[in-house]
Amino acid sequence: MPIIAPKSAQAYRLASGEQITIVDVEGAQVADVVAFNQTDPAERLSQALTRVNLWKSRPRQGDSLYSMRNRPILSIIRDTVGVHDLSFAPCNRLIYRDHFGVGDREGCLENLARALQPHGIGPELITDPLNVFMHTSVQPDDTLVIHRPVSRPGDSITLRAEIDCIIGISACAEDISDCNAGICTPIGVEI
Ligand SMILES: [Zn+2]
Repeated sequence: MPIIAPKSAQAYRLASGEQITIVDVEGAQVADVVAFNQTDPAERLSQALTRVNLWKSRPRQGDSLYSMRNRPILSIIRDTVGVHDLSFAPCNRLIYRDHFGVGDREGCLENLARALQPHGIGPELITDPLNVFMHTSVQPDDTLVIHRPVSRPGDSITLRAEIDCIIGISACAEDISDCNAGICTPIGVEI
């Protein structure tokens, strides 16, 4: 199984109807997923429109993920976990500096930008992702909380491309909060 190394990202081209399975190899590891129309990357995954179309805070097996032109770009056809996040931005240099206060370090946004650049997708096009295996909740006082992922070694989610697309996947680089249970591990990918 091809592996995305810890704290790195890869990009893949999927024809409409092709499937990609994202595997949590060691457990409790988040994968940030973004997707772009191959022929017009300005059409890309929209976290917000996906929430509105699904009318729920996290997607489940059988749900579609929507582009900013409000049509399905990916669908979840198999999911052994059922807990993913549709609220958080990818970790990035500004969040590490301003929120976590750990100075200059790169995150999923920078890693996705590096992986997508050879496909002609610049950093300004990268949207807020589907955060696969990320376990978040909203508390009664509206506070957002990041919990340890519930995914175990070998858990997976399978996505089907609904249009010809380029998909970026980042093995999340955040080892500060419970996001990845404090340790960044690899993500497996099968197409
Ligand atoms: Zn991250």
